[in-house]
Amino acid sequence: MTRSSRKTARPVAFAADGHDHMSCIAEALQRAVALCESRGTQLTELRRRVLELVWSSHEPIGAYRILEQLDRPLPGQMRGKARRAAPPTVYRALDFLIEQGLVHRIESLNAFVGCDQPQATHAGQFMICGHCGVALELNDAGIANALASCATRLGFKVERPTIEVRGICPNCVRSGATQPAHAEHRHG
Ligand SMILES: [Zn+2]
Ligand SMILES: [Zn+2]
Ligand SMILES: [Zn+2]
Repeated sequence: MTRSSRKTARPVAFAADGHDHMSCIAEALQRAVALCESRGTQLTELRRRVLELVWSSHEPIGAYRILEQLDRPLPGQMRGKARRAAPPTVYRALDFLIEQGLVHRIESLNAFVGCDQPQATHAGQFMICGHCGVALELNDAGIANALASCATRLGFKVERPTIEVRGICPNCVRSGATQPAHAEHRHG
């Protein structure tokens, strides 16, 4: 019986500066197609485009930026042909992608980032660089379990166990950054 070889978990690490990000995007889209196929859910053209835009870098992207990019014609597409996507459509696409585990929402940034392990449900922990803006998702069962048992002990009912940690990534540390360049995004 041939079973598709189970991929060993990749070591969790910040992507190096100048890494082949096109292959990050390609892999993410492949994973999404396979996942939706296996679940019988529809990865429509818009959902696929939104996912691609979320994956345009490892930096979480806001819904407004996604909308802006969607309005831009694709290479080779005539200007007039670019369809204007309505904000609710984009939010619905994002909701779908979040529901499928393909995208996570970073609350502290009000932005979205692609997940590279969408197969299993998990509460991500994120290390977010305040200098270049990249976010690295840890899927550390140890942290998740510690948090869960603390909550149980305290009688605290967890609704959203996601952890968002701010700091400076190794790429920025190497290039001499000592403090965040990005001002905190504040809304309201
Ligand atoms: Zn990448
Ligand atoms: Zn994830
Ligand atoms: Zn950084």
